[in-house]
Amino acid sequence: MNSPPRTAFIYTADYARFDYGPNHPLRNVRLRLTHDLIRAHGLLDLPTTCVVESRPAGLDEMLAFHDRGYLETLRQVDGGEAGGDLFRYGLGTADNPIFPGVYAWSALVAGASLQAMELVATGRADVAFSIAGGLHHAHRAKASGFCYVDDPAVIIAHLVDRGLRVAYVDIDVHHGDGVQWAFYDTDRALTISLHESGLSLFPGTGFVEEAGKGKGQGFSVNVPLAPDTDDEIFTWAFDQVVPPVLAAFAPDILVTQLGADTHRTDPLANLSLTTRGFAHAVRAFRAMGRPWIALGGGGYDVANVPRAWTLAWAIMNGLEPPPGVPEAYREACRPLGLRADGLLDEPQPAPGPAKETAWAFARDQVARVRRLIFPHHGLAE
Ligand SMILES: [Zn+2]
Repeated sequence: MNSPPRTAFIYTADYARFDYGPNHPLRNVRLRLTHDLIRAHGLLDLPTTCVVESRPAGLDEMLAFHDRGYLETLRQVDGGEAGGDLFRYGLGTADNPIFPGVYAWSALVAGASLQAMELVATGRADVAFSIAGGLHHAHRAKASGFCYVDDPAVIIAHLVDRGLRVAYVDIDVHHGDGVQWAFYDTDRALTISLHESGLSLFPGTGFVEEAGKGKGQGFSVNVPLAPDTDDEIFTWAFDQVVPPVLAAFAPDILVTQLGADTHRTDPLANLSLTTRGFAHAVRAFRAMGRPWIALGGGGYDVANVPRAWTLAWAIMNGLEPPPGVPEAYREACRPLGLRADGLLDEPQPAPGPAKETAWAFARDQVARVRRLIFPHHGLAE
């Protein structure tokens, strides 16, 4: 990509209509703030960029991955009233509440990610970013971890149906379990997830030994990391595994989940990255030079998510992160009582003993990945 990439930003102000509830950690205002910060930096006005209004997915489109009974039940509770056989579907819990428009919200997110997929699969964009997407925990017939419709799994299923080879890389702090299990037995979709170990974090899976089955053996890759993992350790583990495996797999399309909850200030998890470590991964995805569908994901420090995703959007457009904080964005943050920092954090290495423990864990896990996964891809251990 020597000429500037053609990029598409998938968004609608309608995201703000939906609310998981006052005590829920997932706050949709982060999407509007991301849009506001990107726009305030002038990064939606580039000659090679288009903004596409999100449209809802039809139920039939979501059937590419999901169970019909599950989707119909979700649609029945769209009014916000609990009812029917919800427990078996993981619905109506504290994590996955039935709020007004829960189906409309889920269909809108899936539709946005399908638009990103369409633009990239047809070559109309080199990169498309669906910031509301990346809801990677939902299962075929079960809501989980704030996710009702698994938009990454839906779009990958569509791409695989078209005969394409898809690589999915998930850098959210939580294991991308829903996507992993969706493609566990196929070699058409490679899934790679780097995350805080399931020993200390939801959903409690994502161990190296979950490597795929049958034809899929070696095509499910997990890199668990210990609490206090910082930029240096994350960057090392990422570079050891992701670029070589991606290069060997040679996907037609790259799908990435860019959860921003690895950040050291995130209240739900224990990794210790800054936006520098996050940006390293995004730069590596861009350097792949493949058609690229980028999705959002977790991120519960509302002040940080817009910074991380604005940084990502700049990199997708082949630009260096713009310095400073635009005044219009400061004003958007003020009524919410949010900090408005520049995009790149100062380096924040983890302190001595904690870092040694995290290093030892990462080295051990990476060695296991190399032993268990690399031979399936013709790579030396
Ligand atoms: Zn997460």
